[in-house]
Amino acid sequence: MTRAYDVVIAGGGAAGLFAAIFAGRRGRRVAVLDHAEKVGSKILISGGGRCNFTNLDTKPDRFLSQNPSFCISALKRYTQHDFIALVDRHGIQWHEKKLGQLFCDGSAKEIVAMLVAECGDAGVDIFTQCRVDKVSANEGGGYSVATSLGDFSAASFILATGGPSIPKMGATDFAFRLARQFGLNLVEPRPALVPFTFADRDLNKLRDLSGVPLEASVACNKGKFREALLITHRGLSGPSILQISSYWRDGQEVSIDLSPDRPLAEHLKGLKRTRPKAELRTILGEILARRFAERLFETDLIGPQPLTTRPMADMKDADLVAIAQALHAWRVTPNGTEGYRTAEVTLGGVDTAELSSKTMEAKKLPGFYVIGEAVDVTGWLGGYNFQWAWSSGHAAGMAA
Ligand SMILES: Cc1cc2nc3c(=O)[nH]c(=O)nc-3n(C[C@H](O)[C@H](O)[C@H](O)COP(=O)(O)OP(=O)(O)OC[C@H]3O[C@@H](n4cnc5c(N)ncnc54)[C@H](O)[C@@H]3O)c2cc1C
Repeated sequence: MTRAYDVVIAGGGAAGLFAAIFAGRRGRRVAVLDHAEKVGSKILISGGGRCNFTNLDTKPDRFLSQNPSFCISALKRYTQHDFIALVDRHGIQWHEKKLGQLFCDGSAKEIVAMLVAECGDAGVDIFTQCRVDKVSANEGGGYSVATSLGDFSAASFILATGGPSIPKMGATDFAFRLARQFGLNLVEPRPALVPFTFADRDLNKLRDLSGVPLEASVACNKGKFREALLITHRGLSGPSILQISSYWRDGQEVSIDLSPDRPLAEHLKGLKRTRPKAELRTILGEILARRFAERLFETDLIGPQPLTTRPMADMKDADLVAIAQALHAWRVTPNGTEGYRTAEVTLGGVDTAELSSKTMEAKKLPGFYVIGEAVDVTGWLGGYNFQWAWSSGHAAGMAA
């Protein structure tokens, strides 16, 4: 028996559920199919269980894509304020943590419950433990969808199975395989918002500092982020590193400013006058994390040689300037990332040149839509990726 719908959506994550709500509200008969036991599993683990569901500062320059303009239309037609209004209607309490990032006061479960309730109101049928195996275009229009729960058919098919990051949460590369099958070009996918790993040679200087946080501004290619950084037993992590990982390419150097808010040369020269007897080691321990500062005197971490420890009065101004410059531009070359195992998102995906920016419909496949993380639009850390899921889901839901 084939179950017939107007719209079949593969993937009951943020984007798929959102598209279902808007298609259902338009009177379309909608089925959402997800192979997991519950829908919205990534929402449940997001934002440390509190779901950073949007960002007040959402604007197109917070997204990476081969076509940076592609996201403009969808983000404009369903904004962060629209989503906040929905959350408010459901009585979900929220707060801004920092940098415009909005989190639930309670739990991410409230966001999933809201989406499921909205789907219910819109008459959407949700099928869980329903793996989508095969999709084919019918002669005469529409799509047939073969699943572990049997066959479905619909005039419109929405591909919302996300990217392969965090496979243990049920993430798959199904979207990319299906897109290829239908002849849609892919921008090479790769893990993003992901910690860096270091080769042993570099790691040996840092490994035992695992857990030490540093304030930093981190730059690579066109990206620059002023946020915290964390040393890990495999390399570097923390918000600034996750952010810059989206801009980094294999083999490239990353520049880290360890005194992002204070010009260090002037500061050190000033301390030479006001605290001449203090040792350089003590001073740097006050400016940076103490354990990290000590490592500068034990290894060549920031320069060709370890620093020598002397009272400030004995330091030449030129040496203080050189130390300041090195700390403003600590250069590291990661040997890789932790990969899809821990990446929060997948960069790349279905090429936006294949899709209408207004509806997310594939230009050469009438009735075939791609939304959410499967598309080559990737947000910064901070609620931007969910906003893309809501906005692109809305765009497809209003058209499918
Ligand atoms: C640990 C973590 C924390 C995050 N925190 C945040 C945050 O706080 N804020 C933010 O903006 N972003 C966050 N993100 C990113 C965000 O979760 C994603 O960008 C977003 O979930 C993408 O939505 P989506 O609907 O496109 O894909 P997904 O949410 O991944 O949904 C895809 C769905 O498809 C299903 N599926 C896959 N293959 C099949 C198949 N063959 N058949 C049937 N179903 C299938 C999956 O089970 C899944 O439910 C986080 C990501 C991770 C991993």
